[in-house]
Amino acid sequence: MNNWKRIVVKVGTSSITDEKGNPSAEKILSLARECVKLIRSGKEVILVSSGAIASGREIITRLFKRKDLPAKQALSAVGQVRLMQYYAQIFSIFKQPIAQILITAEDIYDRKRYLNISQTFETLLEEKIIPIVNENDTVAVEEIKIGDNDTLSAKVACAVDADVLVILSDVYGLYTEDPNKSNDAKLIKEVYEINENIEKYAGPGKGTGGMYTKLMAAKIVTEAGIPMILTKTDIENILERLILKNEKIGTFFYPPEKHLSRKKHWMLFVAKSEGKIYIDDGAKEAILKKGKSLLPVGIKKIEGDFVRGDTVSILDEEGNEIGKGIVNYDSNEIQNIIGKNSEEIKAILGDNSYEEVIHRNNMALINRD
Ligand code: GLU
Repeated sequence: MNNWKRIVVKVGTSSITDEKGNPSAEKILSLARECVKLIRSGKEVILVSSGAIASGREIITRLFKRKDLPAKQALSAVGQVRLMQYYAQIFSIFKQPIAQILITAEDIYDRKRYLNISQTFETLLEEKIIPIVNENDTVAVEEIKIGDNDTLSAKVACAVDADVLVILSDVYGLYTEDPNKSNDAKLIKEVYEINENIEKYAGPGKGTGGMYTKLMAAKIVTEAGIPMILTKTDIENILERLILKNEKIGTFFYPPEKHLSRKKHWMLFVAKSEGKIYIDDGAKEAILKKGKSLLPVGIKKIEGDFVRGDTVSILDEEGNEIGKGIVNYDSNEIQNIIGKNSEEIKAILGDNSYEEVIHRNNMALINRD
């Protein structure tokens, strides 16, 4: 029996719009009713909702066919207001207060901002308010874009330390083949590890909103110890059945027994990598097998311009990323101490220099076995 309390629910554009792509009061009403049921049963709900761009279409029709970023940003700017108007009006039928939270990747790359956002969620949830989250499409140019709301919902679930992430979409779950194309397609009811075999089922293409981004979302949350459920929006009483009645519907993704601490998880899955440090085989073995810190002597080369406190990727000689970590040195300092031992480093940087470029405690490894 699960007794999940804090639930992140993600709905895609098609879950809340009609066949023309405009917000559907009927669909939003049924979603709101479900969310309110959970709140009244003592649960906490965070809604991650897409649909801003689609909601802008009737207002600025001329822009809708354009695929460029400024057009999408303008559409989302008008559409987000309209979308929230629907949510606000419909939730008010149930006297349920809501809040709007718009995030870009930049807001969570930075650990302090990440923790600040978590705090805001905490306060809203304490007040029994439903935060409705979307990407801040208006300001999110390419490099600060999360890009898809599946990934966004996973990162939000981690930031608020949710008990479960429910992704509601237009598919019933993960299938071995596309169920619309093949009669042999089998539903995978439970996933314990998102490996290459499972990724194969996502089918070709890594586009936004497809199965691939849903599997990536599952990977992010399960590594943080949070299960994920993927199923269809238009199943009657879906949230009540999943959360309050513990029914098994769709695909359940379970976390591994051993998952990462919040800080290490943030480092691996949320933080942006500001540079690369390539290490030799000796250092790789010391880090992976013996749990050691990264010393200058094991570094082959570095790439990127970073400063002390930044998160960087650690790669082996073949260029495979083995993990990430927070550096004790600026990149130009590391250039001077590559391959040097502790005595040599003291001679170059003085007595107060750190022995480690990345301390073990500030390192998160991709393969933890
Ligand atoms: N933020 C986009 C919107 O509200 C949706 C992105 C997505 O669905 O993944 O239109």
